Amino acid sequence: MTARSRKQSQLNDHVAQLIQCRRCPRMIPSPVSGGPIVSDVIIIGQAPGVREPVLNRPFAWTAGKTLFRWFEEFCGMSEAAVRSTIYFAAVCRCFPGKAPGGSDRVPAPDEIRNCSSWMNDEFEILCPRLAIPVGKLAIAQFIAIERLDAVIGRKFQIKRAGVIVDLIPLPHPSGASPWHRLSPGKELLGKAMRKIAHHPAIRTLQQQLAQSPPRSQR
Ligand code: SF4
Repeated sequence: MTARSRKQSQLNDHVAQLIQCRRCPRMIPSPVSGGPIVSDVIIIGQAPGVREPVLNRPFAWTAGKTLFRWFEEFCGMSEAAVRSTIYFAAVCRCFPGKAPGGSDRVPAPDEIRNCSSWMNDEFEILCPRLAIPVGKLAIAQFIAIERLDAVIGRKFQIKRAGVIVDLIPLPHPSGASPWHRLSPGKELLGKAMRKIAHHPAIRTLQQQLAQSPPRSQR
């Protein structure tokens, strides 16, 4: 068995167990997964919204449209290319439900703690070279963050589950915050996406995609 096929088998088992998880009584099942994509790059979202469990994939609605547009513009990778080559994780994998004001409920600390073991296992299995947390809650799982403009556009090195990995944070692409559309957020977002586009792990994915495009682009 090659190292890659061993990873694939471990990841298949991991995702099969993850989607059965019901650890958090206030979360609305089922957990959302992007599937067992063996990759050197991991994107970490916050938590699914109301649409993702129905459509059965992360970043399935408006925030996803914006996120995939960034990858298309800066990395030359379509949504199908990103989904087929990058592993999608999240701070919490289940939809938390609505808060009294009507926005999505922010996951509670115990729920974040419960779900962090899934992410730790993913770092152990994949040993990724690049992690891309999307949004403040996701970034805060790795580095201290008070203001987005202090971390967006920078590259960090972090250790998670014993794995040393480059970390390039992104702002959340939801329409709820205009941060990434206004100065200095717009420029810092461009800086972060250029860093991602030039990262060796992304370069490797681009080369793989040039040889074997995702099914929807053939
Ligand atoms: S949020 Fe995570 S730990 Fe909680 S039930 Fe969903 S998958 Fe399990």
